[in-house]
Amino acid sequence: MAIRPFNTDSAVGKSIAAALYSRRFPHAVILEGSSPEERMSLAKNIAAALVCTNAEAPCGVCPNCRKAAADSHADILIYSVEDKPKAFKVDLVREIRNKAYIVPNEADRKIFILENSHTMGVEGQNAILKILEEPPSYVNFILLCSSKSGFLQTVLSRATVYNLGQTSASDDESLPREKIIETAKEVALSVAALNDFETVKAAAVFEKDAKLLREALPVIQEIFAASLRIKYNAAEETSEFGSTPSELSQKLSRRSLLELIEATDSLMESIKLNANHNLMVTALCTKLRKAL
Ligand SMILES: [Zn+2]
Repeated sequence: MAIRPFNTDSAVGKSIAAALYSRRFPHAVILEGSSPEERMSLAKNIAAALVCTNAEAPCGVCPNCRKAAADSHADILIYSVEDKPKAFKVDLVREIRNKAYIVPNEADRKIFILENSHTMGVEGQNAILKILEEPPSYVNFILLCSSKSGFLQTVLSRATVYNLGQTSASDDESLPREKIIETAKEVALSVAALNDFETVKAAAVFEKDAKLLREALPVIQEIFAASLRIKYNAAEETSEFGSTPSELSQKLSRRSLLELIEATDSLMESIKLNANHNLMVTALCTKLRKAL
């Protein structure tokens, strides 16, 4: 991770930077909203600024900053759990509490970054509360969550909340199935159109919606598979995809359909590896067209 200066264009960025420069950064902050990546990256940046030895923190060049950037600073401790109820176990909170009472190794401060900390149950939150009430002077807690609503009021009263903006389509809930199917049908049909532009046009809905792409791809694949079955069996089948599979089976060859199924496979694989989203949309268009 690269250390970068704080984005002071936003109100949140400004107030975080101001708190850091004044060297009066709160002992406990909650970063809520935006995407998990954005929250973690900001948290790491704050942590670097807190351990940095230069006035313009994070400077990015001092040994503390460099170790922070390499995720290898002994005084920056990151705890990450899944975004599932009670994933942040009380035992883990106790372990963190014990570590907090041990003075830092290399820096003046010790920073704990807790991802998905809102998944702590009541017991866990009460355990962390004890240390938030009277933290050792050298400790900072950065609690990350999609929404602060999972925290007890007592915990919220001990922390400064920074809202990073609207939560990007998170994994909490699925998109409506009809929307996914409609989109998948349009994209699948566009492949059989005569010009490349149709696919680009149909795939444009994915540009600002990584979640829709992730959920629609397997459905696009199901549609190609249904078309292929129709081709093999020469029989209609009724499905939630309506007439789309049979239309496609008339327009595309077996070979093309097989290639399309493979293309969607490799696209799903890339998404799992967290490929850059904009490149994914482009890759979708080229791969589907190339399969023909
Ligand atoms: Zn530095």
